[in-house]
Amino acid sequence: MEIYRRRHDVMAPRMCHTLSSLTEPRITRTAEQRTVVPLVRTLFDYGIAMTVLTDRLTNRPYLVFDGAMGTMLQAAGIEPGGAGELWNVENADAIETIHTAYLSAGADIVTTNTFGGSRPRLDMHGAGDRVHELNMAAAQVAKRAAAPYGALVAGDIGPSGELLEPLGLLTPDEAQAVFEEQIAGLVEGGIDLVLIETMSDLEEVGAAVRAARAIAPELPIVVTLSFDTKLRTMMGVNPATAVTEIGAMGVDAVGANCGRGPSEMQVIMEQMVDVRPEGLLLIGQSNAGLPHLVGDRFEYDADPETMAQHARSLRALGVDIIGGCCGSTPEHIAAMAATLESSN
Ligand SMILES: [Zn+2]
Repeated sequence: MEIYRRRHDVMAPRMCHTLSSLTEPRITRTAEQRTVVPLVRTLFDYGIAMTVLTDRLTNRPYLVFDGAMGTMLQAAGIEPGGAGELWNVENADAIETIHTAYLSAGADIVTTNTFGGSRPRLDMHGAGDRVHELNMAAAQVAKRAAAPYGALVAGDIGPSGELLEPLGLLTPDEAQAVFEEQIAGLVEGGIDLVLIETMSDLEEVGAAVRAARAIAPELPIVVTLSFDTKLRTMMGVNPATAVTEIGAMGVDAVGANCGRGPSEMQVIMEQMVDVRPEGLLLIGQSNAGLPHLVGDRFEYDADPETMAQHARSLRALGVDIIGGCCGSTPEHIAAMAATLESSN
């Protein structure tokens, strides 16, 4: 597990993974969602906007997400392995500047600086008692940046940092409680949607989805997994299974983030498109290529034009929401947004 943790903490605060299959769906809500989600496109015909996401997608057939936060924090001088979430309070102007750079690059949605904002992860930095404060502050600074652009703010939920039973000690209920605490702070800060990202284990995804439903049933939920191990997650989930199982949880969008660069992301999204149920949005957020260790930092090898080509490829597949992950900067997002705009 040491390797697991170090990989995430070293490569970027905004990276992760975790768990497996939903054994205890919140029956009432999930059943309702299963009924509603496939009807979304039909309901468009009646002018009914289901969520902030589907509402925006009536104006333009795709949305642009931002790129890496961790990469930008490192560029701004944060210590490798440091708790970037503390900057939401101690250096909020730097966080706002990063959000604004992505917004001015053309991002429709920015992600709060809360990837490691759960209690177990903040505990690693002695800040486990500041979950609510740091998440609320992160949402507030993102909203402040997003307001002039009319952009949306996604409340970022990374893996808890603990493995669920039976591989680890965390029970599904405990995991849900961890996520509920984090989401409560984000919601108080004003997020527009919940982004559950860099997951590996469907069980942990289930806990996070239940938490979001419990705390903010009105908010859309977007879930991404990292398929960085031979086109599977660290826990062995393949892209088709992810779409099928997580789609059945009643979320709004499913997809992939992080991983091993645009080429593998293309294959992953092709596999997802093949099994996508009607009405489920797909999202792809590739790393900007593969990381190379340079000194004590990772550098990524895909330039903005490469990511722009990748964005066009994803769009051609029918992927609805496109952004970047580790190594992608405002320059990458600007190239992606521009090419999507010109080929729309
Ligand atoms: Zn990443």
